[in-house]
Amino acid sequence: MIVMKFGGTSVGGSEAIARTVEIIRGRLGKKPVVVVSAMTKITDLLYRIADAAASKDLRGVEENVRDLRERHIATAEQLLENDAANLLPAISRVNEICDELEHYVLAVCALGELSDRSKAKIVSNGELLSSTIICHVMNSKGIRTTWMDARKVMVTDSCYMQGEPDMSEICARVPGAVAEAYEGMDAIITQGFIASNADGVQTVLGRGGSDYSASLIGMAIDAKAIEIWTDVDGVLTADPRRVNGAKRLARLSFEEAAEMAHFGAKVLHPLTIEPAVRKNIPIYVLNSMNPSCEGTLILQSNQIEDGVKSVSFKENILVINIFSTKMINASGFLSKVFDIFSNNGVSVDLVSTSEASISVTCDSSTKNIDRVVADLSDFAKVELVRDKSQISVIGKNLVSQKDVMQRIALPMRGIRLYLISQDASHINFSFVVDRELLNETVNKIHDSLFA
Ligand code: ADP
Ligand code: ASP
Ligand code: MG
Repeated sequence: MIVMKFGGTSVGGSEAIARTVEIIRGRLGKKPVVVVSAMTKITDLLYRIADAAASKDLRGVEENVRDLRERHIATAEQLLENDAANLLPAISRVNEICDELEHYVLAVCALGELSDRSKAKIVSNGELLSSTIICHVMNSKGIRTTWMDARKVMVTDSCYMQGEPDMSEICARVPGAVAEAYEGMDAIITQGFIASNADGVQTVLGRGGSDYSASLIGMAIDAKAIEIWTDVDGVLTADPRRVNGAKRLARLSFEEAAEMAHFGAKVLHPLTIEPAVRKNIPIYVLNSMNPSCEGTLILQSNQIEDGVKSVSFKENILVINIFSTKMINASGFLSKVFDIFSNNGVSVDLVSTSEASISVTCDSSTKNIDRVVADLSDFAKVELVRDKSQISVIGKNLVSQKDVMQRIALPMRGIRLYLISQDASHINFSFVVDRELLNETVNKIHDSLFA
């Protein structure tokens, strides 16, 4: 068996869905479990519906739910116009999902109070809608397909908007459900992103979480491969929307891919790699708009050559500079500082230290940062610096490569650096620059390394 995950643009409209169904047809011999995201922009629309409800904006709710319903019905009609046996149940299910959502959101709107639990229920509808339509299209095109409810098999904790998967429960539930759903069928389709807690209350895996769903399912069924189908030719040397001349990487190690994803490359959800590593399952990143391209193959590190693979970045980060004001020894200082980050649930990206000061970076959207600063201020002088960007050069054994450091350093002449950090396994060299210099710096470094 293999897992095939199709992202928002790969299922973003009738043409994309038709192309996707043909790609799946080409893999039927490998018994695919198909995981789909919501149609492109639909999850954003659902977030807007949730926000409108929270602010009691009844008109906003109604208009956006109408938009949601119309987009899905129009897509179903375009794809199934000559097949009433599939079109009618598809439309009826789309209406059922939208009606239920509307009732629910109107209740939230009346209260004007939106919990994470309610929000997760609202934003998960995109995957329910897309998978319903695509399932009918596959059946209409002669691929016998069962719709599997991810909420019954993907179990997380009760962190509703960013559920932490319960790996052992997922491994216990998925194989049986897949085997049952496959009986007499050519394929199974299920939803990315959505899950439930142990009590069956809906949760989601966080933005972009469908990649993670695919790799969790792959792990649970011991898939031969996990294919992530998206809208670019594979993992590239940099984000093609920001960097000119980004090139496809034919092969990457699990570690390199994980590092890239954690350090800003949106092409994969940062946690996608971990479940695949557990079972050593190769991940392919492929382009649904250009299926004949070989894409990127992600494998165990010993099969991957050393060298620089990418320049990733996070555009908007915070730097926190912490200066010890008391005479404490360095180890006591470090542990006190990191306890505060951990107690406030704040995760740190980069760290750089000297005898009596520490600089760390965090995502700008980090909650509780004010609490962290207040707690640190009890024993240290703290400086919170905003509007910075973090750039990471990633590749196996990169520092041992001849000239690499020089090629990174040369284009940086005259650019102020706020923090520099190199990890112990020599896979990641990162630094922080002013946000307004991000584009220029990333492009210069990319040119210097890859042109
Ligand atoms: P999907 O909807 O298929 O999950 P995403 O939009 O989440 O797609 O991810 C694909 C996008 O990631 C690409 O269109 C590209 O703009 C962006 N991206 C950022 N960094 C990279 C990179 N290093 N390689 C490839 N794509 C990247
Ligand atoms: N639909 C979800 C999102 O937009 C999950 C995903 O696309 O991976 O975040
Ligand atoms: Mg994605």
